[in-house]
Amino acid sequence: MCLFCQIANHQQKADIVYENKELIVFKDINPKALVHLLIVPKKHIKSINQLTKEDKDLVSQMIFLAKDLAKKQSIAEKGYRLTFNVGRGGGQLIDHLHLHLMGGGEIK
Ligand code: 5GP
Ligand code: ZN
Repeated sequence: MCLFCQIANHQQKADIVYENKELIVFKDINPKALVHLLIVPKKHIKSINQLTKEDKDLVSQMIFLAKDLAKKQSIAEKGYRLTFNVGRGGGQLIDHLHLHLMGGGEIK
């Protein structure tokens, strides 16, 4: 089982800030901004490249949750960055789909 599947199954520790049936959100262990959250589907999907039509609602949920969390974390007004890294060439190191939510101060 991959690292993010283990976190989603509570078999690996993480600083979880939100969870529902489909998604889990936790703090990035090596934050690149004051707020750096990872929005992760519990279903194992390797990357954006592996998305299928049946994942449409899931990806939509990830983006709407990012919007809500940005507001909760008080970074919505100033602005923030949402990033999907795809494959090694895109900087993806963990092969389980995740959306980075970064903001608050400088983004490294
Ligand atoms: P990627 O480079 O794949 O887009 O992003 C993976 C992110 O996961 C990185 O920002 C990295 O700091 C974070 N990360 C890697 N291992 C762990 C871990 O064990 N726990 C947490 N919370 N984040 C991790
Ligand atoms: Zn996984």
